[in-house]
Order: sequence, then C-alpha cells, then structure tokens
Amino acid sequence: MGRLIFWLLFAFAAWLLVKKLRQGGAMPGSPRVPPGSVGGEKPVENMVACAHCGLLLPESDSIRRGSEHFCCEEHRREH
Ligand SMILES: [Zn+2]
Repeated sequence: MGRLIFWLLFAFAAWLLVKKLRQGGAMPGSPRVPPGSVGGEKPVENMVACAHCGLLLPESDSIRRGSEHFCCEEHRREH
C-alpha cells in the first residue's frame, strides 16, 4: 500500500513539473521581472554620456577612464 502512495505522489510531482515547464516555456526569452516591481518595468540603469561624442549609454556598457565614460574604445583613445 505504501508503494501506491509513493507512485501517486511521484505522478503528482511529475505533473506539477510539466505544468511549471509549460508555463515557463510559454514566453521564451521574457525577462524575469519580480511580480512586485513597479509596472513591470526594467530597473533603470544609470546612463552616462560619452566624454568624446556625448552619446548616452548604460554605465555598464561604457568604457571608463577615471571619472569619464566613453561609448567605445576608439573614443577613449581619441579623447
Ligand atoms: Zn563616443
């Protein structure tokens, strides 16, 4: 009898897993936004301007030299 309960639980767990995987696969590539975030917006990253051409870009994409930011390696060198 214990075996039957085990298999029932196993089947239930497998069903939950399949359900979860299907839900996750419904929106491929969707960003993982916490449900409590404001309006589902992405967290705004700090934008910086290239010291050479003034192009705005996210700080993480910029090339830093001291306190200055650049949009690309060329501008960092030319500046
Ligand atoms: Zn630039």
